[in-house]
Amino acid sequence: MPINLEYADCPKCGDPIDDDKEAGDTCDCGYVFPATREETENEEPTEPEEGDITTEDHRKFYQYGKLVLDLDEDADHVKEVKAFMDREKFWPNCWFISDHGNAHLMDLT
Ligand SMILES: [Zn+2]
Repeated sequence: MPINLEYADCPKCGDPIDDDKEAGDTCDCGYVFPATREETENEEPTEPEEGDITTEDHRKFYQYGKLVLDLDEDADHVKEVKAFMDREKFWPNCWFISDHGNAHLMDLT
């Protein structure tokens, strides 16, 4: 993801930031360009957003309030969810909602 900084020059040495630099890249002077605020926030979301997939049992998966996957007990839910996302060409976060209503981001890798 390209840098979307509020300044166009390196805050340390004052050199213009190349267009092809990305967050996390290093300037010639050694300054590491920070991730954008939005990127930082997106690193560890704590609750589902619009369009995310949620499940309470790893069998029934919901998106936009609708049931989108209803898996067999012995299905590989990670594989099935990834296949669903590939079909939709949309890869939102996937959440397990515990009995207590806490959302846990699922690792689909
Ligand atoms: Zn610099």
